[in-house]
Amino acid sequence: MQTQTQAEFRNEPLTDFSLPANRKAMEQALAKVRAAFGKEYDLIIAGERVRTAEKLKSVNPSKPSEIVGIHQKATPELATRAVESAYAYFREWSTTKPEDRVAKVRRVAQLIRERKFEMDAWLVYEAGKTWPEADADVSEAIDFCEYYARDMARLAGARPAEVQMPGERDEIRYLPLGVGVIIPPWNFPLAILVGMTTAALVTGNTVVIKPSSETPTIGAQFAELLLEAGFPDKSFNFVPGSGAAIGDLLVQHPKTRFVAFTGSRDVGLRINELAAKHQPGQLWIKRVIAEMGGKDAIVVDGEVDLDKAVDGVLASAFGYQGQKCSACSRAIVDARVYDSFLEKLKPKAEALTMGASDDPANFMGPVISDSARKSITNYIEVGSKEGRRITGGAGAASPGDGYFIPPTIIADVDSKARIFQEEIFGPVLAVTKAKNFEHALELANDSQYGLTGAVFSNNPEHIRQARDQFFVGNLYLNRKCTGAMVGAHPFGGFNLSGTDSKAGGPDYLLLFLQAKSIAERVG
Ligand code: NAD
Repeated sequence: MQTQTQAEFRNEPLTDFSLPANRKAMEQALAKVRAAFGKEYDLIIAGERVRTAEKLKSVNPSKPSEIVGIHQKATPELATRAVESAYAYFREWSTTKPEDRVAKVRRVAQLIRERKFEMDAWLVYEAGKTWPEADADVSEAIDFCEYYARDMARLAGARPAEVQMPGERDEIRYLPLGVGVIIPPWNFPLAILVGMTTAALVTGNTVVIKPSSETPTIGAQFAELLLEAGFPDKSFNFVPGSGAAIGDLLVQHPKTRFVAFTGSRDVGLRINELAAKHQPGQLWIKRVIAEMGGKDAIVVDGEVDLDKAVDGVLASAFGYQGQKCSACSRAIVDARVYDSFLEKLKPKAEALTMGASDDPANFMGPVISDSARKSITNYIEVGSKEGRRITGGAGAASPGDGYFIPPTIIADVDSKARIFQEEIFGPVLAVTKAKNFEHALELANDSQYGLTGAVFSNNPEHIRQARDQFFVGNLYLNRKCTGAMVGAHPFGGFNLSGTDSKAGGPDYLLLFLQAKSIAERVG
């Protein structure tokens, strides 16, 4: 099947909220979503809707007294049932025509596109994203669907092997793996969930989806979209629940064939370890696709357009409150421009607007939860002793009763400091002085992570050096280190940032497939 190629892929345009029509549509969508607050959603196992005694409530982090959705907490028995029913349906689903699966994934993209404002609104309220951040997440979800649909079209069917033995017809074809457990984080609750799930389904696997407990309503919206797009109800299961209560079980189940996880370092390492242990009756070595944390650095060279560097750091460090795996949490600045960099950065950070994420006047919304706020606050206290806090901090004024933390900058941070080494996942930027460019690169690479990084420099030799020596999965030169686009910037990190899966790139679907080599004697 060779219908469409990646060449035809186009990124979904972002919504221009300065246009009155778009603003109005978004306001209407926010009102519609708000009217649906507090609804109870079911667990879905092979199409059967199930309710449990224990509930999970998701809240609006801008105003935590508002309950966005009420969800079921899957019990171990239900989680087991989900894996077993996905296993029972795998043989049938894996033999469906790839073009049918491709069409269904395209239909998902179309449905999300048609409801873009509404999906944006769910992200505003459940994940605390501002309008443009929510729209970028939803656009990326559409991109993943379109990209993987096209890529499956490329991979479907048999292809001749590179070398043909005399008297043989030698070919390769790609087969799906089996039951996949899909475990997304809350910070890209639509894009990452959609990307991992559609990659697994379009390649012919069946799945068990365990959404993040912070954002299960967005997960439930997606589960309904899958059904509407024509995915058979047995091809997926939707089982919200606590990671601790059912996560281990899903990963360890002998019928689980692979795990697609995106989240923190520690949970990723645990999943990797549990999945590696062979279980009685298990017929394979489980595959783990794990994209994990980051401690991303932007290097600011001495020869630089300082305003551009300051803006790049600002957007990367404080967009979505620093809660992106790609967020800049370390600015490493050449001594020659260090003081002027800080002088320019501080007032710009202080001018950033912060407040409820449904108000488009705000550049920053809340952090995701009270526990996130506490953990970030703790890091700010630690960091304030490790360096010189020049703005922000937990004590600074914050609007309303939401989980707000103002942009916080801590200067003069040593590379051995905890806030230089540990992922904080909030609006906290450590700034470190480098002796020169080589030293700056050395500091940037002094990390257990290796996800994204950027360099601002006008020196071509330094740019060349960065290309060769900056050890990150996604390197950006003279631009911010967030905002990866599907197709242009396949995404995934080195070191403890994960298995470098390169989501949104041509290698990604192969992680959900296994190659079969077939040689036939002819004549
Ligand atoms: P998390 O690790 O706390 O949770 C991720 C998911 O794992 C959630 O669905 C959670 O319920 C589940 N989980 C928790 N314990 C589990 C267990 N024992 N077994 C199975 N599943 C379990 O991460 P988070 O707070 O949701 O997300 C933030 C983290 O994700 C940050 O570290 C961030 O850098 C990372 N992240 C990485 C990427 C990337 O592409 N590298 C992208 C986004 C986020």
